Order: sequence, then structure tokens, then C-alpha cells
Amino acid sequence: MGALSNIEREAVARASAEPMLAQVEAWAAVNSGSRNLAGLETTAAMLADAFSVLPCEMSLEAAAPVESVDPSGRKIPLEHGRNLHLTVRPNAPVQLLFTGHMDTVYGPDHPFQEMAWLEDGVLGGPGVADMKGGIAVMLAALKAIETVGAQQIGYEVVINSDEEVGSLGSAALLSKAARGKRAALTYEPAALPDGTLAGARPGSGNFDFTIHGRSAHAGRNPEDGRNALVAAAELAIRLKDGMGPRLSVNPARIDGGSPNNVVPDLAVLRVNIRPATVEDQGRAQSLIDSAVAMVAASHEVSIDVHGHFARPPKPVTPEIQALFGVVRQAGADLGQSIDWKPTGGVCDGNNIAACGVPVIDTMGVRGGKIHSPEEYLIVESLNERAALSALTILRLAEGA
Ligand SMILES: [Zn+2]
Repeated sequence: MGALSNIEREAVARASAEPMLAQVEAWAAVNSGSRNLAGLETTAAMLADAFSVLPCEMSLEAAAPVESVDPSGRKIPLEHGRNLHLTVRPNAPVQLLFTGHMDTVYGPDHPFQEMAWLEDGVLGGPGVADMKGGIAVMLAALKAIETVGAQQIGYEVVINSDEEVGSLGSAALLSKAARGKRAALTYEPAALPDGTLAGARPGSGNFDFTIHGRSAHAGRNPEDGRNALVAAAELAIRLKDGMGPRLSVNPARIDGGSPNNVVPDLAVLRVNIRPATVEDQGRAQSLIDSAVAMVAASHEVSIDVHGHFARPPKPVTPEIQALFGVVRQAGADLGQSIDWKPTGGVCDGNNIAACGVPVIDTMGVRGGKIHSPEEYLIVESLNERAALSALTILRLAEGA
């Protein structure tokens, strides 16, 4: 740690001394599946309490309205939990953004609810790595920064409640908070258990195509019918045929249909599309537009398209490269060797990068098997990563 100034040394020591494990255990004991609004509300209150030690303006912000398409093609409101939003020193010269998510992929009905020590120093449990551990790391680093006194740094914190279901209710809050920030740190777990960070990420969009045809008797006058199910099937195939190495298309479900003696007049096709880059996203949009136009014309059906690329692709820009350089140097000065690699997953880092703000989105803990009942946290990584964040933040403030 020879390369550290006295303030840096103190911040690192304070960050790694925070009681992070106890926080992770308390937070992971409460179910906060993305659709468990009551559990999310409890979790939000616990987090608000923990973060209130920061000299902040704090609010719990309601989710933006979101609609989903039900199996009969109707748009229905989809509720999301409230999002924790903090502002600290909004007039300080250096403005940063810190984000995390309080939701997990495990709803109250999921069998994985309990924490258990898998071995010495390895804690299994729902959300311990993704990302209650990461939130503890973020808070520890921010507390340390406040203790050493860093009046030149101002920041916003957003901890949303719907990241695991695409951040549809919190995307507007995230992009508002990203405005004017020098850099952002997001506390997803490291991409690999050895601590490797995530670099480039593809984009992702979910689409619902509601197809209205015309029903008719299957025997008496089938020629008067316009078969929505067949149109949905052809649309699925046309979209899938547009797939390539930089564009993944997954037709996932068709709702609708009718009794066997009726030409079906309704089908809803659900598709996930993942473009590697912004150009590929443009290509995907043209593919959607042309496939929809072609199928609508040839089957004489109407097609309503619902959805968008809620996670824009996150390429590695020179600004992100430079931010990674700061994190890697901080790691090197702490005796941690930090690498990064592209990943297939998406997260709020996609949305922040799309606002033009450089972001490193895997500043959270080391662990693994996330989104599975084997999810685990490597406990010693709490200290490591809190130290890494504290040092990175101080160096960002210097304009490193
Ligand atoms: Zn996550």
C-alpha cells in the first residue's frame, strides 16, 4: 500500500472496518423478490435507515407507471416497488452516481429463502452477492469518504427495486440521477469469483406482439378467417431468421388461440432480442419493423408492438476505459489485481452508459452462482471491495 496518501490510507482502513457482514445478513433475511412489494417496502425502510448516516437529502420515490400485455392482448398496469434516492452535496465540484438494486430474483414462493454457511468464509443465501453484499460495500465506502472529509465530492445514490425485471419503473429516475455526473459506480457482483469486472455488455429488449385477425368457422367459411396464430408463428420465424452472431432473438411464448373449430382471431407473441452494439440495435429495430409489416400485409392481420430496448448495449468507450484504469490502479495499490471482460448479461450499467456517463457496474462483492439456489458471497471480499471503492472514489475526486 506504498502508493497511498494518508487520507487514502485512512479511508481504506475505515471502509474495510465497517460491519458489512451483519448488514448483509439482516438485509438478506427479508425476501425482496422483484414482485414482492411488501418485502421491498420493508427492505427499502431498512436501507433508508442504514443510509441515513450520510449527510443526505433522502426520498423513497414511487415507480413510474409501467404496462404489460396480458394473454388476451390487453394492456394492464404492472406495479413496482419504491426506489431509494439520496442526494449529497449537489453543489460540490465533482459529482458522482452510485447505484444498486434491493430486489432479488427469488420471490416469496421460491424454495431458496435461508442463509447458510457453505464453508468457512463463504455465505450462501438469496441476494447475498446480487446484491445486498454490494449495497453494504457501497455504503461502507461512502461512510469512509464522509469520515475523512471530502467536501469536493457530491453524489447521488439510487437503489432501485426492479433491476431484476428490467428497471422499467426506475429507468427514468436512473437517467435523471446520471445527468451531469463525472462517473458512476454500480455494485453488481464481480463477473467472476476471482473479482474480474464486466466490460462491454449487449443490450436487451422484450417485445409483445399482439396480433388481431378475424375468426370464422373452421369448416363452413375458413376463407373468411384471418388466422392470428399462424401469423404469430410466421412472425416468430421471421424474427428468428434475422438472428446472427451479434443479434440474439428468442421467441419465447405465444398466448392465444381458439377451439379447434374456430379460426383464431388473437395471438400474443413474446420475444426477447439482444443486440451486441448500438448499430446492431438499429438493425434489430429494422428487422422488427419489416417483419411486422410483411406479416401484417400477407396475413391481413393487425399487429400491435409493445416494448423497447430497455437495456441499450453498453460498449467500452474511451471514457469507460479510462474509468476502468482508475479502478485497476486503485486495485493495484491495494494489492488486488483487477481485470475485466465482456459479459452476456445486462444491468443498470447499460442504462447509465446510454446516458453518456462512464460506469463500472461490477464494483460489488466476489461470489457466484447468482440467480440460483447456490448463490454465495465470499465474505472477505466485502472488505476488499469496500477498500477498492473508497480509494477509487477519492481518486475520481482528484480527477485522476
Ligand atoms: Zn444484480
